[in-house]
Amino acid sequence: MMDRPLLVKNLLWRAENVFGRHPIVSCREGAGDNEITYGELTAMVRRYAAVLAELGVVPGTRVGSLAWNTARHLAAYFAVPMLGAVLHTVNQRLPAEHLVHTIARAGDEVLLVDRDLLPIVERIREALPGVRHVVVFGPRPTDPVSGVLYMDELAAGVAEFDAFPELDERAPAGICFTSGTTGMPKGVVYSHRSTVLHALALCVAGGPEVRTDRSYLLATQMSHVNGWGLPHAAALQGARLVLPGPHPAPRDHLRAISTWHPSVLVGSPTVMAMIRDEYEHDPGGYDLSSVRRLWLGGQAPLAAQARWWGERGVEVTNGWGMTEASPTGTFSSVSDSQGRPLPLVEIRVVDPDGRELARDGRTPGELEIRSPWVTGSYLDGQSPESFREGWFRTGDVATISHDGQMAIRDRAKDMIKSGGEWISSIELENHLTQHPCVVEAAVIGVPDERWLERPAAWVVLAGEVTDDELREYVAASYPRYWAPDEFLRVEEIPKTSVGKLDKVAMRRRHAELLTETTR
Ligand code: ADP
Repeated sequence: MMDRPLLVKNLLWRAENVFGRHPIVSCREGAGDNEITYGELTAMVRRYAAVLAELGVVPGTRVGSLAWNTARHLAAYFAVPMLGAVLHTVNQRLPAEHLVHTIARAGDEVLLVDRDLLPIVERIREALPGVRHVVVFGPRPTDPVSGVLYMDELAAGVAEFDAFPELDERAPAGICFTSGTTGMPKGVVYSHRSTVLHALALCVAGGPEVRTDRSYLLATQMSHVNGWGLPHAAALQGARLVLPGPHPAPRDHLRAISTWHPSVLVGSPTVMAMIRDEYEHDPGGYDLSSVRRLWLGGQAPLAAQARWWGERGVEVTNGWGMTEASPTGTFSSVSDSQGRPLPLVEIRVVDPDGRELARDGRTPGELEIRSPWVTGSYLDGQSPESFREGWFRTGDVATISHDGQMAIRDRAKDMIKSGGEWISSIELENHLTQHPCVVEAAVIGVPDERWLERPAAWVVLAGEVTDDELREYVAASYPRYWAPDEFLRVEEIPKTSVGKLDKVAMRRRHAELLTETTR
């Protein structure tokens, strides 16, 4: 067989030469929504590549992006790795300290920045001596910022680049950092090979099945684990992407859905809940009838939400994954399990000594995974304990059934051990949010003298309900000891930079409350 390397440029080749006239929508760019074709995207990629080459970007150079979901960011997704350089998609929502940490660790020499995110970069630039150039996407404004370059101006002065190198498929193509839910963000380096194989796997039946005849609203950030690999898979299939643009609010998503009629909405349960709430609050004029499918991920889907969309004829699917897994490991066409591994993904559950446990759908253990698109180490060799005998230890507690259906029970750190019995925080949250008065719920374990740990719930309420009533509601479906001792009524539950329940912040707040009351 021909020993052809698997390269990111092969993904774009198909977009250009097979689907050159297929559209991509980039919303709220300058004057309004902007529709371009994959052919035009390819021309942008070549110009960006020429600009970057002139700025001294060579194979191995790290290029950071702080950008929203736009066609420009999409062009950078291809231009940077196709030059042999490495695209580090920076999570713009990280606190300054984490931004400096991730940009410095990645070794970014050039930053590509959306204009409205430039102030964030300006604030930390002094702490980043390794950054040689800051390039702002778009035209030079009438009041340019000194010390930065403007992409459109540079791109107008170059010829389209077409000498993309033949690279080793194991060469790095991208870097993402974990969202830091469980500590300082850790870097993961993706290769061309892993990016291509992951994109292919997203296209096969039994997975998300990215298809030419579907159209995708990418509501998850392109800075979050490669936009879940959808930008790469969509190029491979010529699928229409609807990119929501800068700072999307739920009503921007609703407007994009009503105008551009995507058939699949891609994003976390948190984002989808915000879209639903906005629609419930003000359905006026919005049209959800094009939506056939939700592609959720990043968090366990909530039953109440699945029901809401289900009543509107929408199929709720759900992918389990992590930054370390590019991100997709398993995929489910129902919302109450995390589904089966994608082709070329192996999963198993093990006990604390690493012994494999039964695939009986009942025995929980730590989930381990291996695949050509699961990382074999972290950047700079951090956390070697996460890797064991060729497997990656996910830190999730799961069961696997004889037919490969995986169900996440909890994160190991979030499981609550009360009097020697395990309680799943995820199951409690899911159950509580099915109560008509509960809008949102998060459950953490808090120290307890007698039981070691007890569940405490934070709830956002939409009606009158007592703690006892909520406890009874839990006890009607679960053992009585699962019922939380405390219900803290809050306006909002703390969230991480990617919109997950921030249990670290909740635990900290709980400890503070405890010292305040015992003082
Ligand atoms: P971080 O680990 O920093 O939060 P990730 O986005 O990589 O960043 O999060 C991965 C974790 O998110 C998984 O280990 C798992 O706990 C959780 N997760 C992801 N997808 C799902 C899902 N579909 N169902 C339940 N949990 C999920």
